[in-house]
Amino acid sequence: MKVEKGNIRDLVDLISLRKKVTILTHKNPDGDAIGSSLALYMLLKKKDNDVSVLVPNGLPYYLKWMPNARDIIVYEKNSSKATLKINDADIIFCLDFNALNRIANMGNILISSNSYRVIIDHHPLLTDIDFAKYLFIDTNYSSTCEIIYDFIDRIGFMDLMDEDIATCIYTGILTDTGGFCFESTRSYTHEVAGDLIHRGVKNAKVYRKIYSQNSIYRLNLLSQALKNLFLMEDIPVGIMYLSDSNLKENHFRKGYTEGFVNYILSIREVRLAVFLVEDKKRKIIKMSFRSKGGFDVNMFAHDNFNGGGHVMAAGGYSKLSLEDTINQVKKVVYEYKDKFRA
Ligand code: 5GP
Ligand code: MN
Repeated sequence: MKVEKGNIRDLVDLISLRKKVTILTHKNPDGDAIGSSLALYMLLKKKDNDVSVLVPNGLPYYLKWMPNARDIIVYEKNSSKATLKINDADIIFCLDFNALNRIANMGNILISSNSYRVIIDHHPLLTDIDFAKYLFIDTNYSSTCEIIYDFIDRIGFMDLMDEDIATCIYTGILTDTGGFCFESTRSYTHEVAGDLIHRGVKNAKVYRKIYSQNSIYRLNLLSQALKNLFLMEDIPVGIMYLSDSNLKENHFRKGYTEGFVNYILSIREVRLAVFLVEDKKRKIIKMSFRSKGGFDVNMFAHDNFNGGGHVMAAGGYSKLSLEDTINQVKKVVYEYKDKFRA
């Protein structure tokens, strides 16, 4: 799916005029969200714009090293400053999301603001969007970072790409492709990554900073999650969960559970992986879905668990208790019994 709406030249003219630019990305930001936002932040600053990056909630521990990560304004911690940055902006970029509920309370502020709004994303569109003047969504891209690379080229600013900008883009591609492993990785993804390395990215170092940051607590939490993993009997579904007490006992920090869901999917017969994490503070069960063999978790999450994402990777949430959510998953997957292919 590819949609482009609006005129990219108008946008380029605007960002060449030293504007107030605000970059927004989704809650529970991942490497692609932060990578694309910081890359664009640094690039537009080089064009003398007054730029800010806003996220609904904080960064996971494994992204805090990223260039200029400290400049990011977290809405949960500083809502008045974040609100001002949205209301005051001439241009607002929405990166790596296309549904307003992905930015929590900032959604309402965004749509009532008086700005030139831009969406750049690689998630399928689930609902019609009318809040953007310029929109580029293409699900063929591995990541929003891969789109940003092309975007920088299209607007003629490739000569401004330095090592820090390239590192941010590389990080988003690396994390959204699961280390160049997911099916979203195409030859072009490798070409872009190759060019970024050519431009100075220390690829092995980036890998280490993202994936070799384990604490003993995180590994213990993984061990607990694996103990809580079970397979359904006559249907290729694996379910894994972590309760609030599991998290507390293992000194949980934001980002610890990233990637855990892939262990479920690594089981030979599993076609749908469901990972549930109890969030006592928000009174929800956060859900992650992954699939192989073509089962559409984007629709599954959208139709049953208030969520969405991609065909093979999606998320959502439930307001039931952990136990009731597990029972609901067990029940609802049976309605999809015929959708699982070998
Ligand atoms: P994760 O399972 O890693 O949290 O998310 C997997 C994918 O689904 C990501 O692309 C993410 O952006 C998307 N996603 C996660 N949670 C939600 C959600 O609550 N709503 C929607 N629409 N997408 C989500
Ligand atoms: Mn992404």
